[in-house]
Amino acid sequence: MPHTLETLRADYEELKARGLSLDLTRGKPSAAQLDLSNGLLDLDLSGDHRDGAGTDLRNYGGADGVAEVRAIFSELLGIPVPQLLAGGNASLTFMHDIIVHALLHGVAQGEPWYGQDVAFLCPTPGYDRHFAITEALGIRMIAVPYLADGSLDVPAIAQHLADPSVRGMWLVPQYANPTGSSVDEATARALAALPAAASDFRVFWDNAYAVHHLTAAEPAPLDILRFAAEAGNPDRFFVFASTSKITQAGAGVSFFGSSPANIAWYKMHASVQTIGPDKLSQWRHARFFGDADGVRAHMRRHRALIAPKFAIVERILTERLTGHGSWTTPTGGYFVTLSAPDGTATRAVQLAKEAGIAVTPAGAAFPYGVDPRDSVIRIAPTMPPEADLETAIEALALCVLLAEAELAG
Ligand code: PMP
Repeated sequence: MPHTLETLRADYEELKARGLSLDLTRGKPSAAQLDLSNGLLDLDLSGDHRDGAGTDLRNYGGADGVAEVRAIFSELLGIPVPQLLAGGNASLTFMHDIIVHALLHGVAQGEPWYGQDVAFLCPTPGYDRHFAITEALGIRMIAVPYLADGSLDVPAIAQHLADPSVRGMWLVPQYANPTGSSVDEATARALAALPAAASDFRVFWDNAYAVHHLTAAEPAPLDILRFAAEAGNPDRFFVFASTSKITQAGAGVSFFGSSPANIAWYKMHASVQTIGPDKLSQWRHARFFGDADGVRAHMRRHRALIAPKFAIVERILTERLTGHGSWTTPTGGYFVTLSAPDGTATRAVQLAKEAGIAVTPAGAAFPYGVDPRDSVIRIAPTMPPEADLETAIEALALCVLLAEAELAG
C-alpha cells in the first residue's frame, strides 16, 4: 500500500509512543565481539615479560614497538618490519601527531606547513574524525566526492594536485568509512604516480579495516609502499592501522608504516614525545594471536557475529526503502551508507532522535559537516543486539519516508 503523509505521521506517532532508546551512532564492537579477546585479559605475564630478544618489556625503551607484534602485522599489512612501527592504542594519535610534526617541522625534505595555506583532499563521504583533526589544526579541507560506483575521482584529484597548497589527502583504502568501498590496484598506482605541485604531498592511507572482511573473500592489502617506490614517489604514503576493531578498541595496538625516510623522520620527532609505547599490551597481542593466521581466524569469529547484522540492515532497507534512496552493501568494514532522498537526511535524523534512535548527525561524513545534498546517513550496525538493530533500522526507514513525504508537501 502506498504511504501517505497521514499514514506515515500516524506510524511515526506510534513509534514515538514506544519510548525507545537505541543507538546507531558509532562503529563500536559489541560486547560479544569484545569477549572474543578476553584471552588478552587472562594472559599471565608475571613470568613472561621478555621478548624474543630478551628485552624486559616492563621497562622503558623499545620506541619502535615489540618486534613480534610488528612481525604479525607486517605480514597482514604487507609492510616490511623495519618500516612498521607499533604504538599506543589509537592510530588517530599517529595521524594527529604526524600532522602536528608536519606543521611545526615540515615532513622529510619539506618546509614547515605552519603559516602556509595548507589543504587536504577529502574523499566524501568520509570519516568524521579525520576531518575533525584537519579542522582542529587549521588545515583547509577540499571535498572530492566519490564517483557513483564508489571509486575515487582520479581526474579530479589530479586537477587538485596542480595546486601547490594541496599537501595531503585522507583515504581509507579498504572498506572505507562510511562507504565500504575499496581502492583497486589501478587507482592505487595512479595515486602513487600522479604529479603533484607540492613535492611533500602525502596520502594518509588509513587501512583501519584491512582484515575486517564480511565475506569469505579476504583480499590482501594493496602493496602501496611498493607502488609508490616504483612510481618514483617513495615517500608519498603514510599507512595506518590498529587492532581497535580486532581486539579491545580502548586497549589495543596501533601501527604506522611508511618509507624508510619517513619512518626515520617520524622517529626523530616521536623520540621527544615518549620513551616508548606500552610494550606489555603489544606483547599480550603477540602472545594472544601467535601469528598472522591467528588474527585471520579471530577476524572470522568477528565476521560470524557481525555479518548477520549487516544482513538485517540490508533486508530492512530493501523492504522499506526501495525506490526511496540507495544504500551500500559492504563486503567489509563497519558501516552502511544510506543515501536518503536529497534534502531529507537532516530531518530524518532529527525525527529518529525525537523517537529515541540516535543516529550520527547528518553531514558528519563531510568536511565542516556540510553534505551538499543533505542525503547521507551513516549506519553503524555492530554495537546493538540484533533485535534492537531491527527495531532501529525499521524506525530509521520510517523517518526517511516521513521526511521525504514532508518535503514533497
Ligand atoms: N580510522 C578509521 C577509518 C576508523 O573508522 C576508525 C574507527 N572508527 C579509526 C581510524 C580509529 O582508529 P583508532 O582506534 O586506532 O584510533
